[in-house]
Amino acid sequence: MKLNYLEWKCPICGKRNRDETNTFAYGSPIRNCRYCNCEYVDRRWTEIAVEGPQDISTNPGNSLKITVLLLVITAVCWGFGYLRYIDGLNPFKFIVLGALALIIAIFYIINAIRVRNGSNRDELRQYMRESEQRLQDPAYVQKLIYYGYKVPEKYIR
Ligand SMILES: [Zn+2]
Repeated sequence: MKLNYLEWKCPICGKRNRDETNTFAYGSPIRNCRYCNCEYVDRRWTEIAVEGPQDISTNPGNSLKITVLLLVITAVCWGFGYLRYIDGLNPFKFIVLGALALIIAIFYIINAIRVRNGSNRDELRQYMRESEQRLQDPAYVQKLIYYGYKVPEKYIR
Protein backbone atom coordinates (compact mmCIF):
# COMPACT_ATOMS: atom_id res chain seq x y z
CA MET A 1 0.00 0.00 0.00
CA LYS A 2 1.60 3.27 -1.04
CA LEU A 3 -0.43 6.16 0.22
CA ASN A 4 2.19 8.01 2.15
CA TYR A 5 4.95 10.45 1.50
CA LEU A 6 7.69 11.60 3.82
CA GLU A 7 9.15 15.01 3.29
CA TRP A 8 12.34 16.41 4.67
CA LYS A 9 14.45 19.48 4.20
CA CYS A 10 18.06 18.80 3.29
CA PRO A 11 20.35 20.16 6.05
CA ILE A 12 23.00 21.14 3.49
CA CYS A 13 21.20 22.66 0.52
CA GLY A 14 17.83 23.31 2.20
CA LYS A 15 15.80 21.83 -0.65
CA ARG A 16 12.73 19.78 0.08
CA ASN A 17 12.94 16.04 -0.60
CA ARG A 18 9.82 13.98 -0.97
CA ASP A 19 9.90 10.18 -0.78
CA GLU A 20 7.17 7.72 -1.43
CA THR A 21 6.85 5.24 1.39
CA ASN A 22 4.91 2.19 2.48
CA THR A 23 2.18 2.74 5.08
CA PHE A 24 4.35 2.99 8.18
CA ALA A 25 7.66 4.00 6.60
CA TYR A 26 9.64 0.79 6.79
CA GLY A 27 12.91 1.39 5.01
CA SER A 28 16.38 2.82 5.38
CA PRO A 29 16.69 5.82 7.70
CA ILE A 30 19.81 6.84 5.81
CA ARG A 31 18.64 9.05 2.96
CA ASN A 32 20.42 10.93 0.25
CA CYS A 33 19.39 14.39 -0.84
CA ARG A 34 18.24 14.15 -4.40
CA TYR A 35 19.61 17.62 -5.18
CA CYS A 36 23.08 17.78 -3.58
CA ASN A 37 23.42 14.03 -2.76
CA CYS A 38 24.44 14.66 0.85
CA GLU A 39 23.61 11.96 3.37
CA TYR A 40 21.16 12.43 6.19
CA VAL A 41 19.37 10.34 8.83
CA ASP A 42 15.61 10.46 8.99
CA ARG A 43 14.48 8.56 12.08
CA ARG A 44 10.87 8.46 10.94
CA TRP A 45 11.93 5.47 8.82
CA THR A 46 12.15 2.10 10.57
CA GLU A 47 15.00 -0.29 9.75
CA ILE A 48 13.03 -3.31 10.85
CA ALA A 49 15.93 -5.81 11.19
CA VAL A 50 17.59 -3.38 13.60
CA GLU A 51 14.68 -1.73 15.38
CA GLY A 52 12.04 -4.44 15.12
CA PRO A 53 8.49 -3.86 13.89
CA GLN A 54 6.59 -0.82 15.13
CA ASP A 55 3.91 -1.28 17.80
CA ILE A 56 1.31 -0.19 15.27
CA SER A 57 2.21 -3.28 13.16
CA THR A 58 2.01 -5.79 16.00
CA ASN A 59 -0.53 -4.46 18.49
CA PRO A 60 -4.10 -3.95 17.19
CA GLY A 61 -4.95 -2.07 20.42
CA ASN A 62 -2.79 0.90 19.34
CA SER A 63 -4.69 1.28 16.08
CA LEU A 64 -8.01 0.98 17.92
CA LYS A 65 -7.03 3.74 20.37
CA ILE A 66 -6.11 6.04 17.48
CA THR A 67 -9.39 5.10 15.74
CA VAL A 68 -11.44 6.05 18.82
CA LEU A 69 -9.57 9.35 19.17
CA LEU A 70 -10.20 10.18 15.50
CA LEU A 71 -13.89 9.31 15.78
CA VAL A 72 -14.15 11.68 18.76
CA ILE A 73 -12.47 14.39 16.65
CA THR A 74 -14.97 13.71 13.85
CA ALA A 75 -17.90 13.98 16.27
CA VAL A 76 -16.57 17.23 17.79
CA CYS A 77 -15.89 18.78 14.36
CA TRP A 78 -19.29 17.86 13.03
CA GLY A 79 -20.88 19.06 16.29
CA PHE A 80 -19.21 22.46 15.84
CA GLY A 81 -20.18 22.45 12.18
CA TYR A 82 -23.79 21.81 13.11
CA LEU A 83 -23.76 24.62 15.73
CA ARG A 84 -22.34 27.03 13.15
CA TYR A 85 -24.95 25.88 10.63
CA ILE A 86 -27.86 26.58 12.98
CA ASP A 87 -26.27 29.97 13.76
CA GLY A 88 -26.34 30.70 10.04
CA LEU A 89 -22.52 30.53 9.75
CA ASN A 90 -20.48 28.59 7.23
CA PRO A 91 -19.78 25.07 8.64
CA PHE A 92 -17.67 23.93 5.65
CA LYS A 93 -14.24 23.83 7.36
CA PHE A 94 -15.54 21.76 10.28
CA ILE A 95 -17.36 19.33 7.99
CA VAL A 96 -14.20 18.77 5.93
CA LEU A 97 -11.98 18.40 9.01
CA GLY A 98 -14.40 15.86 10.50
CA ALA A 99 -14.55 13.91 7.24
CA LEU A 100 -10.76 13.85 7.07
CA ALA A 101 -10.51 12.47 10.61
CA LEU A 102 -13.14 9.87 9.68
CA ILE A 103 -11.17 8.73 6.61
CA ILE A 104 -8.00 8.34 8.69
CA ALA A 105 -10.04 6.51 11.36
CA ILE A 106 -11.19 4.02 8.70
CA PHE A 107 -7.57 3.54 7.66
CA TYR A 108 -6.58 2.74 11.28
CA ILE A 109 -9.50 0.39 11.87
CA ILE A 110 -8.47 -1.53 8.73
CA ASN A 111 -4.93 -1.66 10.08
CA ALA A 112 -6.21 -2.96 13.45
CA ILE A 113 -8.13 -5.74 11.67
CA ARG A 114 -5.12 -6.65 9.52
CA VAL A 115 -2.81 -6.80 12.55
CA ARG A 116 -5.38 -8.79 14.53
CA ASN A 117 -5.90 -11.47 11.86
CA GLY A 118 -2.24 -11.47 10.84
CA SER A 119 -2.77 -10.44 7.22
CA ASN A 120 0.00 -7.83 7.52
CA ARG A 121 2.58 -10.54 8.29
CA ASP A 122 3.62 -11.09 4.66
CA GLU A 123 4.21 -7.37 4.33
CA LEU A 124 6.38 -7.34 7.47
CA ARG A 125 8.32 -10.34 6.21
CA GLN A 126 8.95 -8.50 2.95
CA TYR A 127 10.21 -5.39 4.81
CA MET A 128 12.41 -7.68 6.91
CA ARG A 129 13.91 -9.26 3.77
CA GLU A 130 14.63 -5.82 2.31
CA SER A 131 16.12 -4.65 5.60
CA GLU A 132 18.38 -7.69 5.90
CA GLN A 133 19.46 -7.14 2.32
CA ARG A 134 20.63 -3.63 3.17
CA LEU A 135 22.44 -4.96 6.25
CA GLN A 136 24.49 -7.31 4.04
CA ASP A 137 26.57 -4.25 3.21
CA PRO A 138 29.19 -3.75 5.99
CA ALA A 139 29.58 -0.07 5.04
CA TYR A 140 25.85 0.42 5.55
CA VAL A 141 26.01 -1.33 8.94
CA GLN A 142 28.91 0.94 9.97
CA LYS A 143 26.85 3.99 9.01
CA LEU A 144 23.92 2.83 11.14
CA ILE A 145 26.24 2.29 14.10
CA TYR A 146 27.79 5.71 13.50
CA TYR A 147 24.31 7.27 13.62
CA GLY A 148 23.63 5.54 16.94
CA TYR A 149 21.59 2.50 15.89
CA LYS A 150 22.08 -0.63 17.99
CA VAL A 151 22.74 -3.12 15.21
CA PRO A 152 22.42 -6.79 16.31
CA GLU A 153 25.72 -8.72 16.42
CA LYS A 154 24.76 -11.05 13.58
CA TYR A 155 24.90 -8.18 11.06
CA ILE A 156 28.28 -6.88 12.24
CA ARG A 157 31.27 -8.29 10.40
ZN1 LIG B 1 20.73 18.69 -0.38
